[in-house]
Amino acid sequence: MKAVRFHQHGGPEVLRYEEAPDPRLEAGEVLVRVRSCALNHLDIWERRGLPNITIPMPHIPGSDVAGEVAESTDPGTAVGTRVMLQPGMSCGHCDACLSGLDNECPRYEVLGYQHHPGGYAEFVKVPVRNVILLPDHVDFVRAAAFPLTFLTAWHMLMTRAQLRRGEDVLVLAAGSGVGQAAIQIAHLHGARVFATAGTDAKLDRARSLGAFEAIDHRRQDIAQEIKRLTNRRGVDVVIEHVGEATWAKSVRSLARGGRLVTCGATTGGHGTLDLHALFAKQLTLLGSYMGTKGELLRAARFFFAGQLAPVVDRIFPLADAAAAHERLEASEQFGKIVLEV
Ligand SMILES: [Zn+2]
Repeated sequence: MKAVRFHQHGGPEVLRYEEAPDPRLEAGEVLVRVRSCALNHLDIWERRGLPNITIPMPHIPGSDVAGEVAESTDPGTAVGTRVMLQPGMSCGHCDACLSGLDNECPRYEVLGYQHHPGGYAEFVKVPVRNVILLPDHVDFVRAAAFPLTFLTAWHMLMTRAQLRRGEDVLVLAAGSGVGQAAIQIAHLHGARVFATAGTDAKLDRARSLGAFEAIDHRRQDIAQEIKRLTNRRGVDVVIEHVGEATWAKSVRSLARGGRLVTCGATTGGHGTLDLHALFAKQLTLLGSYMGTKGELLRAARFFFAGQLAPVVDRIFPLADAAAAHERLEASEQFGKIVLEV
C-alpha cells in the first residue's frame, strides 16, 4: 500500500510518501480502507521525537481516521461498512478497561503513536471495538476531523470539570482542534464561553461557533479581559492546552472555586503557581488525557445529529502530508487539517 512514513525524527521533510507493507490482520481486528485522516499536534511531537519515548521506525502517524471496512474477522462488521475510528487503544480486560475507564488502562496508547501504525496510509488495522459506524449523511472528511479533539474536549469539560449549565468557561486558542471543539461542547451545554485567538478572522470564527466574547491574545491581556468581561468575578472553568505561555494568565482568570483543566502544553511544560491563590480562592487543577470510548460514543450522537460540527480548515492529498504539517506548525489553521487518501 501507499503510506506516509518517517524513518528518522526531524522536520516535515522526514515524511516520505512511499510503499509500505499491507497490515496483517489478526483475530478480533478490522482492516479499514482509509478515506480521510485528520492531523493532530501529537503527529508533530512524534515526528520531532520526544524524550523517553521510542517510536519503532519506520513509523506511520495518524490518529483520526474515517473510511470503509475492507476486511473483517468480526461477523458483525461487514466489508464496505462506513466507519470512523476510536483513537484510544487499550487492552480491553484490565480493571480500568472493564470499569469503562479505558483511557486509564496501563497499556493505553493512541492510534498512530508508538506501536500502532496510523492512518497516513491506504489501510489501517484496529480492534473491532475501535470501530464506530457512520450514518450515510456524515462524510469521511468531517468524520476524520471529529474523534480525537472532540473526545479530548468532552472529557475535559463534562467529566473532569463537571461543567454545569450557566457557568462561564474560558477556552484558549479557539482555532486549535481542542479549542473549536470545546467552544461548541460548552455552548451546547448552556455555558457562557469566552475564547482567545490571535487574528481578527479567528476571533470572528470563534464567535460564530458560539463564543459570547472573543479575546485577542496578541493585543489584550487574557486575565484582565476576563475580569473586565465578568465584572471582576472570573470564569468557573478554564480549558488550557497552551502551557507555559498562558498558564499564569489562565490561573488568574479563575473565579473563586474555579477549575482549570489542562490536556496539553504546546508552548512548554513548566508553569508557576501562586499557592496563596490556590488555597484562598479554593481552585482546582485537573489533568486530562483523551477520554473513554463511552464518552466518544456519547459525543458522536450530537455530531451525527448536527449539534456538534468539526471545523475543517483545509484538505491536503496524503502525498502532501509534509505541507499539511507545515501549516499546523505555523498555527495558520482554524479547525482541523485533513488528509485525503
Ligand atoms: Zn486495559
